[in-house]
Amino acid sequence: LAERYADTFPGSRERFERARTLFPCGVTHDTRMMDPFPVYVTHAKGSKKWDVDGHELIDYIVGHGSHILGHTPADVVKAVQDQMARCTHPGACHDLELEWADLVKKIVPSAERIRFTGSGTEATMMALRLARLYTGQPKFLKFQGHFHGWHDAVTIASDPPYDTNAVPGVIDAVVANCVAVLPNDLNRVEDALRSDDKIGSVILEPTGGHWGGVPIRGAFLAGLREICTRLNRVLIFDEVITGFRVAPGGAQEAFGVTPDLTTLAKILAGGLPGGCVAGRADILAYLEPRPGKPKMKHPGTYNANPLSASAGVATLTRVATGEPSRKANAVARELRNALNAMFAANDWPWVAYGDFSMIRVLPGYRGDRPKPAAGDYDGFIPCGGDLNALDGPKTTAQVAAMRQGMLLNGVDWWGLGAMTSCEHTSADVART
Ligand code: PMP
Repeated sequence: LAERYADTFPGSRERFERARTLFPCGVTHDTRMMDPFPVYVTHAKGSKKWDVDGHELIDYIVGHGSHILGHTPADVVKAVQDQMARCTHPGACHDLELEWADLVKKIVPSAERIRFTGSGTEATMMALRLARLYTGQPKFLKFQGHFHGWHDAVTIASDPPYDTNAVPGVIDAVVANCVAVLPNDLNRVEDALRSDDKIGSVILEPTGGHWGGVPIRGAFLAGLREICTRLNRVLIFDEVITGFRVAPGGAQEAFGVTPDLTTLAKILAGGLPGGCVAGRADILAYLEPRPGKPKMKHPGTYNANPLSASAGVATLTRVATGEPSRKANAVARELRNALNAMFAANDWPWVAYGDFSMIRVLPGYRGDRPKPAAGDYDGFIPCGGDLNALDGPKTTAQVAAMRQGMLLNGVDWWGLGAMTSCEHTSADVART
């Protein structure tokens, strides 16, 4: 397989040789590391992208989740081109930031006030700092396996499904301010909060770590809301992936649970760099100078950048209709069902599961574990959440082979997961 792969993608192989002299590991993002080398892409449209050797690939990475409208939608491209000609950075306030924030406020239930950032990582950093100022408490609680970007505070216990608290390069004092517990256990959360007054906030990916690898259900979210209100802690939904994707208003709309703060990025900026914190006015007020109150500093050269704003406005205008998330959700369900039918027909111990427009694949699903009933995969928590119980090394080899095999057959997705856009079709599912 590896030989066929190398022969099929010679242009990428050549580029990777050069890349290894430029970048550590030859790549510019950890998840682009791939054995024996990654594929280099020239352009993309709708659900497809094309590599340097001219292969057409059905794309389920969709700009790391940022393209709910598919690649290069005409309305977004035009909006960005028009803005590009006007100016990329006025170094001043501008109309597009007002339009962009108006849309966020209209679409996202928790958004009373908004502050734009340069990325999702910056957004979670801001949300946690605001929560520290609002509560006066230094610590926060997160869930094992939940990913919130790469700044120091949140790298703890962020690998799927669960990991240890060891964080190379992060100082102990920072690690000590994060309490990481297993997800889907309200008693554990309540115990942790009750036993430590210094925990001021709770942050989570509201459909589960790494967009639903170990899913979270509405009842858990509602329970967290109740506990945080009762114990006076700030509840933060990290909707960098789920925002504008699972429903226009994100998981908080889909599950009817409103957090105090929400972090957003990706679809927010229509595939360009950008993020924001949206939430309660009295918490975001810590960004304002007020007598007797501390003010959080927040400069940032690219905050509310007009190019990102133009893409964001064009994208959210369509997101607000509800159609993009509806279509992306429907085609993802079709793909989950088709994969499960294929696994069953071939007698593979694999399962495709997930929620909304996110698809997870669990290889090497051991026969001694209860399998969900056919058609019930959307509500399936793999192995009761204990993914670590699966057969590690064998699974890793299978996943690497699958990724190569998929690329050889014209499909690009992450090893164990995929996301759809509203441009993916039944024909794409059949081909996949
Ligand atoms: N939170 C979540 C849930 C994410 O998935 C990501 C990025 N994949 C981030 C935060 C960080 O966002 P960014 O990559 O824009 O810094």
